[in-house]
Amino acid sequence: MNYLSLALTGFLLLCAMAVPAADKTTVILGGSLVNLDGGPALENSAVVIRDGIIEAAGPANTVPMPDQARVIDASGTWLIPGLMNMHVHLGLVLPGKMAVELADESEAELALRMAAAARETLQAGVTTIRLPGEQRHGDLSLRKAIARGHVPGPRIYSAGEALRITGGHGSEPDVTYHDGPYELIKAARREISAGADWIKIMISGGIATDGGDIAQALMTPEEIRAVVDAAHRLGARVTAHSGSPAATVIAVDAGIDGIEHGYFLDRPTLRQMKKAGTWLVPTIVVSQPATADFYQRIGSPPWYLTRLQSVGKAHWRALELAIEEGVSIALGTDQLPAEPNDGTTATAREAQYYVEAGMSPTQALRAATIEPARMLGADDVLGSLTVGKHADLVALGADPIEDIKALRDIRLVIKGGAVYRNELEDTP
Ligand SMILES: [Zn+2]
Repeated sequence: MNYLSLALTGFLLLCAMAVPAADKTTVILGGSLVNLDGGPALENSAVVIRDGIIEAAGPANTVPMPDQARVIDASGTWLIPGLMNMHVHLGLVLPGKMAVELADESEAELALRMAAAARETLQAGVTTIRLPGEQRHGDLSLRKAIARGHVPGPRIYSAGEALRITGGHGSEPDVTYHDGPYELIKAARREISAGADWIKIMISGGIATDGGDIAQALMTPEEIRAVVDAAHRLGARVTAHSGSPAATVIAVDAGIDGIEHGYFLDRPTLRQMKKAGTWLVPTIVVSQPATADFYQRIGSPPWYLTRLQSVGKAHWRALELAIEEGVSIALGTDQLPAEPNDGTTATAREAQYYVEAGMSPTQALRAATIEPARMLGADDVLGSLTVGKHADLVALGADPIEDIKALRDIRLVIKGGAVYRNELEDTP
């Protein structure tokens, strides 16, 4: 047994009581069912959940009521699918005070920190996350522990460890580098065989390390093509950290599935992404002024803040252009989903930025629910309150289609039929 599984075993003993079991049958009664296709909400609805799956959803007076069900009174709330955040690092370490404090973090400590962040993620209404780069496979152990009901947390899709080239983004002590197509193919296969459903590659420089220019293509076309091909053959999808138009053009040509951040993306590059059906996960929240408090809190060094300021305006323009060009966008924050930001969570703030940059509230809500489900290839089971899908549901205190800021007011969180947060009248 390694330290990581030892830590998780210890942790689950401590918090076994914190994982609610899914009730056999639950009815969410009286809420307004938000229409993700843009029509009016269905008022006074009933959502019937059996064994973690949505069995019925419709007007309360037409849905047959099961016997002996737990009934949660959701009148006065708006029901949306559980939120999905596609760019999360549960074991995030950023330069500065935070990195110093965590310099000697053991695997056990890392696992506990990730499990705590997973629990807070659920509390923030986020029921599915994608992890594009974690350390020491803590993500894969945690996913197992959550699936077994040992610790509370969202559904996890993960890229395992991100693949980095020598001198590129993510150059830090203790990191393994992969140079050339063969090393990258081998590394991609290793991550997939360990359980990764995605592969993440660093194809341009980034903000958080000083390895390489953010706007430059650092990985060669041969390297990118090799990874994409090898991953696709094994059924995994590939996404790239990229701030660079040049690197993005190469990756899109190679058939990559997604681009993260896109700090300096221009209109021609975004048009190419739109044409190829490449996803963009903006993580706009990291580069905007409201996040300054966070960087101060974690003691970010001056070089980091300078690098951050250098991308803020371009990043915002790239997001506006991506929305204008109709690029498929899935919400991601690159901050912990529940991280306090501007009086709410990073996840809610990210969605609000999308509206400020040109999306309708419906589009922003889709970017936080059904669009990520499509990107994951899981829209048959996730992303909407539809019969047959997993019962992942959030109740809001206001109508998000009227004002996306309603995402700040979460009253109920259900994942797989289990209630993780509840401020409503409840008759178990
Ligand atoms: Zn990231």
